[in-house]
Amino acid sequence: MTMIPSLLDKNSWNKEDLITLLKAEGPAMEMMLQRSAQTRERYIGNKIYLRGLLEISNICSKNCYYCGIRYENRNIRRYKMTLEEVEKAVRFAYEQGFGSVVFQSGEIEAQPFTEFVTRAIAKTKDISGGRLGITLSCGEQSDSVYRQWKEAGAHRYLLRIEASDPDLFKKLHPTDDIHNLHRRMEALRGLQRMGYQTGTGVMIGLPFQTLEHLANDLLFMREFDIDMVGMGPYVMHRDTPLFEHRHEVPLLKDRISLSLKMIAILRLMMKDVNIASTTALSAIDPMGKIMGMKAGANVIMPNITPAKFIGNYNLYDNKPYVDLYSNASRLTMEKEIENQGFKIGFDEWGDSVHYRQRTGS
Ligand code: SAH
Ligand code: SF4
Repeated sequence: MTMIPSLLDKNSWNKEDLITLLKAEGPAMEMMLQRSAQTRERYIGNKIYLRGLLEISNICSKNCYYCGIRYENRNIRRYKMTLEEVEKAVRFAYEQGFGSVVFQSGEIEAQPFTEFVTRAIAKTKDISGGRLGITLSCGEQSDSVYRQWKEAGAHRYLLRIEASDPDLFKKLHPTDDIHNLHRRMEALRGLQRMGYQTGTGVMIGLPFQTLEHLANDLLFMREFDIDMVGMGPYVMHRDTPLFEHRHEVPLLKDRISLSLKMIAILRLMMKDVNIASTTALSAIDPMGKIMGMKAGANVIMPNITPAKFIGNYNLYDNKPYVDLYSNASRLTMEKEIENQGFKIGFDEWGDSVHYRQRTGS
């Protein structure tokens, strides 16, 4: 406890400071979460923005060792939503006042997929008269594809670095041209250069991961001057190579508290960025997403993928699913947020304030 209050009063933190903060427990951790909540309130207010998440395809050419929809997992049925299915879900998000949608998918670099996403973006703009914000999370693509999607109307992109440390990255991915940290960083830079609100993030509580790795991840996000962050606990999937290392994964409660500390510290470091409270938090604890918001997150991505696809987009085991097409569940979700004293930013894009400051837009 002794060191934490004085560390919290600092304005910038080096790696050793961050490691000390990541070790905080009990009252010291509570103090840190509170300080983060105050920072959020002061710099960006108490609104939570909703992004309706559509998992448009689970077809993936990659083989990340942690992910349940990796190419080599034959135990799932591969799908790509039709444009009509996308349209229906987008219309629903719009009618519910969600403000934005996120299109997420496995990673495919191929013309038909590029076109499909372009059409989905154009349709979304069309349906909503340009009023729905659009975030993409479709992996690494060429600059020309990123440009095509931007011109069609997407304005934010999430590409998690997963692990900014080269050795840890190698332990989580096969060693080949498509699983390459340098390539991923270049893609992230391309997005930033092109004018996207650029988001990244990491998984927390991975086998082989140390507090030093996480401290460096935070420094990476700051140095990159990122606009948005989505990070959450690593959750195992039994049909993946990383499952073999399940005994080296921190306990559930430790993964939760480490994730909350990462959110809180990032909020203290980068006061005006958008931070998502991720679904993976709820996979470990039913109150996970709320805890993330209280720790400083200001965005959630409620899943609006049609029920028939849900079981085939399991990035990890026990992925929670709330049927938001049911009025009762949707209202419960909204109430849970409001009961914590937050306001939901209905019909708002909720763009990253950091992006506006960074670009003067
Ligand atoms: N294919 C795209 C987007 C879909 S995957 C991409 O990889 O960028 C979206 C995110 O899910 C990944 O960035 C990864 O951080 C997360 N993810 C995958 N498997 C996971 C697991 N087992 N536990 C927690 N998060 C996981
Ligand atoms: Fe594919 Fe993304 Fe999963 Fe990697 S994390 S296997 S790129 S869906």
